[in-house]
Amino acid sequence: MTAGTERPIRRPVIPKGPATYRMPPNLADYEGVRKSFRWDEARRALSGLPGSRGLNIAYEAVDRHAAGSRAGREALRFIRADGSTRSLSYAELALQTGRFAAVLRDLGVGRGDRVFSLLGRSPELYVAVLGTFKNASVFCPLFSAFGPEPVRQRLHLGAGRVLVTTRALYRKKVAPIRDTLPDLRFILLADADGNPEPDTLDLAALLAQAPPDQDIVATQPEDMALLHFTSGTTGTPKGATHVHEAVVAHYATGLYALDLHPEDIYWCTADPGWVTGTSYGIIAPLVHGVTVVVDEEELDVDRWYRILAEQHVTIWYTAPTALRMLMKAGAERAAGHDLSALRFIASVGEPLNPEAVVWGQDVLGLPVHDNWWQTETGGIMIANFASMPIRPGSMGRPLPGIEAALVARDGQGKPLIENGAATLVTEPDVMGELALRPGWPSMFRGYLNEEERYRRCFAGGWYLTGDLAKRDDDGYFWFVGRGDDVIKSSGHLIGPFEVESCLMEHRSVAEAGVIGIPDPVAGEVVKAFVELRPGHEPSEELRLEIIGFARKRLGAAIAPRLVDFTTNLPKTRSGKILRRLLKARELGLPEGDLSTLEQAGPRP
Ligand code: ATP
Ligand code: MG
Repeated sequence: MTAGTERPIRRPVIPKGPATYRMPPNLADYEGVRKSFRWDEARRALSGLPGSRGLNIAYEAVDRHAAGSRAGREALRFIRADGSTRSLSYAELALQTGRFAAVLRDLGVGRGDRVFSLLGRSPELYVAVLGTFKNASVFCPLFSAFGPEPVRQRLHLGAGRVLVTTRALYRKKVAPIRDTLPDLRFILLADADGNPEPDTLDLAALLAQAPPDQDIVATQPEDMALLHFTSGTTGTPKGATHVHEAVVAHYATGLYALDLHPEDIYWCTADPGWVTGTSYGIIAPLVHGVTVVVDEEELDVDRWYRILAEQHVTIWYTAPTALRMLMKAGAERAAGHDLSALRFIASVGEPLNPEAVVWGQDVLGLPVHDNWWQTETGGIMIANFASMPIRPGSMGRPLPGIEAALVARDGQGKPLIENGAATLVTEPDVMGELALRPGWPSMFRGYLNEEERYRRCFAGGWYLTGDLAKRDDDGYFWFVGRGDDVIKSSGHLIGPFEVESCLMEHRSVAEAGVIGIPDPVAGEVVKAFVELRPGHEPSEELRLEIIGFARKRLGAAIAPRLVDFTTNLPKTRSGKILRRLLKARELGLPEGDLSTLEQAGPRP
């Protein structure tokens, strides 16, 4: 069924977390909860627009609370560069987002029109996202560090009608491409300060004049709400579309996978330019009525520890790349910070190395709970739940309401679909393509302008994710690699994640990226690019030591034959290692779409 030899999964276990976890219902009865779960019941936990006028994300996230006892509760708490904070209560957020919707309406921007942002994590961004939902328009956040070309590409593809940005970003990134975007009618400057640039409008002035329009435009569950571009890890980013009904999944997954409760202080480190920063940096936590901490600055080790401690963060949702950076900086940096408020840590975006799970336990006092999802799935699909033992290195088990399976692959590595039916992997520890049964609320409804590509994602009654995984006999899923990243060497199928995680167990290795390079005898051989921890210098001796270390643990067939030292693994701006770029550079091939490449910069 699958080419290559299968190896059993290494499966250490961390006992379930301390009693501070509050997850109801107790997922320790996993099968029971799964059996009784119904999406339509989760839907009933939300109110729907008053007067049975449909379902709107912004109403569930903001106005529902603003109309009740949580009106005065801090909704968003922004941490400025100097550490000072500014907050918006649920009532204030309802008012501001209502005004933003009214500004759009007065400009003649309506249902389905696309509103883009090119903003840092400022209040205007959050107001624009939710205000756009209230006007039945469609929001598309862009990462503020994009250059002019990625901005142009996406505005063009998404037919952006409105862009919200700042003066500096406008001058640097929008003015040079303005003429090429005829659909773009309105550019709103968040910081015009009474003096907008030619061809732009002053957002603050418009908001001040706008009536606090509380009448949310009626939206139906299937109305499009969000356009999100994927990270571009495997190629040109795709524009995934999401609808208002997604909020049902944001609600349920916020409860099950993140343990969100109204009294929580919650920090999601992802930028809303990526789907995590929207689904779980804005929608899910606000739907649960929590206080959301937003850091306006970029990752800085000491600053992050300070925020966790000083803001009394209770739930923290971050990414492997950030955790690896904290690990690299050394445990001493955490010392002296009181992290006692913290009760749950989760991670997403890339495979989470077992090292990082254990490090969390040792240094932060809590293990890290990995979970898996994609831009396309709109919400968390597989997770290590708070109420269950964590298996470090595993993505966890499917959420209630989610059916996941592994589709066997044929000799060419394609999913095995015969007569419209998929052949599923049933034995434990055997690799297949991770697939999900369509029908959950936050599932994408299309790739913008790429109907055929969207259709190709579905076969035999399943949505095919493009990721390869294994499942153990307790139903935990283990990430192997992207379909394109898996290495075939002397009859073995090797997932880069397994090799990278093993390398990280070496005392000198901070981070590793692994690729296959063509070899006349083996087909491919494994090559590793390794970043060292502070205090270690590259040397021939160390190279041999690392190779020897990996051989001992993985065996000669799987361990890297070649190791290069590097100080800057190429990554996407959402923090994913760009293995395709490592490979293209290694083989002297064209580098492909690099619009999401993070430019190398000083690391703390
Ligand atoms: P593109 O689709 O443009 O190549 P991308 O797949 O990186 O980019 P995202 O939707 O941001 O874009 O990322 C989803 C992917 O990230 C998943 O398909 C998976 O490969 C990886 N991923 C996310 N979370 C995890 C996790 N917990 N473990 C392993 N891989 C993960
Ligand atoms: Mg993808």
